Amino acid sequence: MSLTDDLLKIASLFFPSINVKCTHDKIRPDMEKGYCPDCGKLIQNEWYITRCACCGVKIRAMVKNGNIVPQNHFCHNCGSEEYTVEKLPQINFIDINFAALIKKEIPELVLPSTTRCWQERTTEQPKLLVQYL
Ligand SMILES: [Zn+2]
Ligand SMILES: [Zn+2]
Repeated sequence: MSLTDDLLKIASLFFPSINVKCTHDKIRPDMEKGYCPDCGKLIQNEWYITRCACCGVKIRAMVKNGNIVPQNHFCHNCGSEEYTVEKLPQINFIDINFAALIKKEIPELVLPSTTRCWQERTTEQPKLLVQYL
């Protein structure tokens, strides 16, 4: 239980209109992203696995207080306590057994969806940089 969770709970007691954090249950894990029907926020599914920092074997990951941690304290292969967290570009059938899912809220963009920037200080023809969001 993190301090932020406690504060949210206390706040929701005094201000019932403040909802305790939405868990975006209706966002299916097989979607890449989508709008949560409960809170209307754009949610992106992010998959993470943990690996032993010593020998590199995959260790089942889980989410604890919003952080990715390994399910086991020690590596089953070499006994090391150190681990690294790896973000998966996309989930597959092998990694799904090891991976933990974080449903990340994507903040609403104030800017239009396409931002154009002109390169400065160049003698060449200015290049149009299009940022796809
Ligand atoms: Zn939600
Ligand atoms: Zn290991």
